[in-house]
Amino acid sequence: MGAVGIVIGLRPPALDAVVALGAHCDDLAIGAGGTLHTLCAARPGLRVDALVLSGGGTAREEEERAALAAFCPGADLRLTVLTIPDGRLPAHWDEAKDALEDLRARTDPGLVLAPWAGDAHQDHRGLARLVPTAFRDHLALGYEIVKWDGDLGRPSVYQPLTPEAARTKARLLLEHYPSQRHRPWYDAEAFLGLARIRGIECGARYAEGFHTTKLTIDLAGG
Ligand SMILES: [Zn+2]
Repeated sequence: MGAVGIVIGLRPPALDAVVALGAHCDDLAIGAGGTLHTLCAARPGLRVDALVLSGGGTAREEEERAALAAFCPGADLRLTVLTIPDGRLPAHWDEAKDALEDLRARTDPGLVLAPWAGDAHQDHRGLARLVPTAFRDHLALGYEIVKWDGDLGRPSVYQPLTPEAARTKARLLLEHYPSQRHRPWYDAEAFLGLARIRGIECGARYAEGFHTTKLTIDLAGG
């Protein structure tokens, strides 16, 4: 067996605004909570425009507001939660598309965090398909959500997490989403287990994995 090294990392030259998209309250935290926390802790004042398509006006929106505030310490966080019914994104396509276009008009992010197009949940998959229609020239990373469907794939991009960041993610998920605790997979073991596996894949202790469909590199540098 060969030696395992650290996988090469790319560092964006500037990152002062991030867009974070979720179909449901808690998607962002499950899929990219460790990345959001790591980003915000390292970049005080980072602008985070978060858009969640469903749960507006319910207890789930309250959970999401408190959770994202904790996941984005020190950030300039702006959260919008829409009222599209869970599982009904295809019938509310225009509303979701308009919300993404409105968001695009308000910010020019260096990074977009969103579901990925291979996700088995139709709301997640639908939102993933909308992303490049509104954010055409942006780096978009598609996060993973562990679920009953067994749709985890092979991510190609990793954000390593320190053990502290991984544990903070699991703790915040358990603290802030009491409405989800009844789900059989909603526990620290699952969150840390997947993060540990993604860590193995990129030469770190823990990580979050992402899918991306397109990016350019500048090999000339300068
Ligand atoms: Zn979801």
